[in-house]
Amino acid sequence: MTTNINAAVPDNHFFGDVCKFFDHAATFTKHDAGLLDQIKSCNSVYRFRFPIRKGNGFEVIDAWRVEHSHHQSPTKGGIRYSEMVNEDEVMALAALMTYKCAIVNVPFGGAKGGIRINPKNYTVGELENITRRYTVELIKKNFIGPSIDVPAPDYGSGEREMSWIADTYATMNPGQLDAMGAVTGKPIALQGIAGRREATGRGVAIAIRECVSVGEDMLKLGLTAGISGKKVIVQGLGNVGYHSAKFLTEFGALIVGLCEFEGAIYNADGLDIEAVFQHRKATGSILGYPGAIEFKNSMEGLEQPCDILVPAALENQITIENITRIQAKIIAEGANGPTTPEAEAVFYQNGGLIIPDMYANAGGVTVSYFEWLKNLSHVAFGRMNRRFEENSNLNLVNMVEGITGVALNSAQRSSIIKGASELELVNSGLEDTMIRSYHEIRETFINTQGIDTLRTAAFVGAINKIAVSYQNLGVWP
Ligand code: GLU
Repeated sequence: MTTNINAAVPDNHFFGDVCKFFDHAATFTKHDAGLLDQIKSCNSVYRFRFPIRKGNGFEVIDAWRVEHSHHQSPTKGGIRYSEMVNEDEVMALAALMTYKCAIVNVPFGGAKGGIRINPKNYTVGELENITRRYTVELIKKNFIGPSIDVPAPDYGSGEREMSWIADTYATMNPGQLDAMGAVTGKPIALQGIAGRREATGRGVAIAIRECVSVGEDMLKLGLTAGISGKKVIVQGLGNVGYHSAKFLTEFGALIVGLCEFEGAIYNADGLDIEAVFQHRKATGSILGYPGAIEFKNSMEGLEQPCDILVPAALENQITIENITRIQAKIIAEGANGPTTPEAEAVFYQNGGLIIPDMYANAGGVTVSYFEWLKNLSHVAFGRMNRRFEENSNLNLVNMVEGITGVALNSAQRSSIIKGASELELVNSGLEDTMIRSYHEIRETFINTQGIDTLRTAAFVGAINKIAVSYQNLGVWP
């Protein structure tokens, strides 16, 4: 079976939407039109096809890797495995990676990959063949490497695929000391990093918690400050959706709705995310979960009463068609590009607020950055200093106990003495990044005359940072 490679179909508008957001934000900057054009354009678009053996014959696979911006090296971004992948989408997602990295001060350019297959239609062996061959094609054209372009997981791919990529890259580059830095999102056993799997969802939850903690902003939305008791609907129970829901629950929010392909469920008193996850694993569907109202049409699930809606599935979910039926006051974009520019304008006019994708879901690439640093330094975070910290803390506790005569119990002692593990350091770096970046965006939003959305503010910040990089590189006066 072959598919049509002419994927830049006219009604695909995702890259155009990203450019629309960019052009609008650019009006709040003072950069030269040529420089803005350079920032906005996709630098390199590699479209390729390769055959794999399937059954008794062959199948030709369509694939892409787009490097959007080389203002920083390497470029960075996931590989999407989906039968819906097309060139427009990969370009849009690569561009979003550029802005995303700039927003959270991760020193990478943006990139994205796509393999047009439905992974469910392939055996594990076939998926391995496809992934290894895809990697070889990237190597042949110098589109992968720890200092060139570093892939990661995205929709339809995960740690298993990243380990095949790492192994193929290392095999083809014998003796390259930093070979494992050619891809992130690897299993821990293959020089991955603790906390990467849940990083995007954790980041989404922190972004929401930070946003709702600002009392004066919540007042304008008619909401109280604080995450506790906020009602949330999550679309998508994949890696991002599941972990967003899990951490939001831990922070005190109430998950009232969940939407998936097969339909949606809703319970105003709250859903137990872990129980729903297990129910879906056992029955193949979220429908039939005890005590919940059901919607066969999944999109109806988005329109139920809540404070916060987290689209964490795919792009183009919230459009001019359904935006006026969305009851949430805040949309927090776990997915890339879930809201169209027209829908966003209406949502803001109606008094809503959107936490934009390129900030909200930046936790994944932030922790990928930590993984890449770990791979280049060849040492796990915390390895050199943990014991030293513990000994210093122990000396301090002993001294304070001696001076005050107050003896701590063993739980208190060990919680004070304990040195940080890799996971704790990763989570601390992630939390710091998400909190700082939120306030950076919010400051721009508040302090820029006439600015309309947090997304525009995020774009303005990103454009300014990228412009400085180009100027520092000496390629722009
Ligand atoms: N695919 C993820 C994203 O869209 C992660 C990218 C990365 O870790 O490089 O942000």
